[in-house]
Amino acid sequence: MTTTVSPNPCIYCAKDERLTNLTIEITELQASILYLFKEQTYRGRCVLAYKKEHKNEIFELSKEERELFMDDLSRAAKAINAAFGPDKINYGAYGDKMPHIHFHLVPKYENAPQWGSTFVMFPEPTVHLQESEYAEMIEKIKSHL
Ligand SMILES: [Zn+2]
Repeated sequence: MTTTVSPNPCIYCAKDERLTNLTIEITELQASILYLFKEQTYRGRCVLAYKKEHKNEIFELSKEERELFMDDLSRAAKAINAAFGPDKINYGAYGDKMPHIHFHLVPKYENAPQWGSTFVMFPEPTVHLQESEYAEMIEKIKSHL
């Protein structure tokens, strides 16, 4: 007899293939984990997820936890900015269907997709890169963290 174990509905807690299909871990920061988003329509796009436990809303964190998380967010954005030189970084925290606290860090470029508007969560056509290109981007971001 086999039993089916339902996976944790939260991909940021389960850290299973649902997450690794979408992202590659870059590094752990003080209150979060920074991931490179595999879909790279917006060059340098990353996700920063709260790491300590499952929390849905930023106001559920203590002031200290929130400060650490926001420091990580700022540090990650600064590194992405230095690595890729976008014209602006967009910050997206939505999570209707995946409420675990996470921010999309989306570099935007003039004369490129959705400049002057909101980024598209899953753009079409998708832009996927070679493993070696992802590795190069990750090293570049890490060198500026
Ligand atoms: Zn979670």
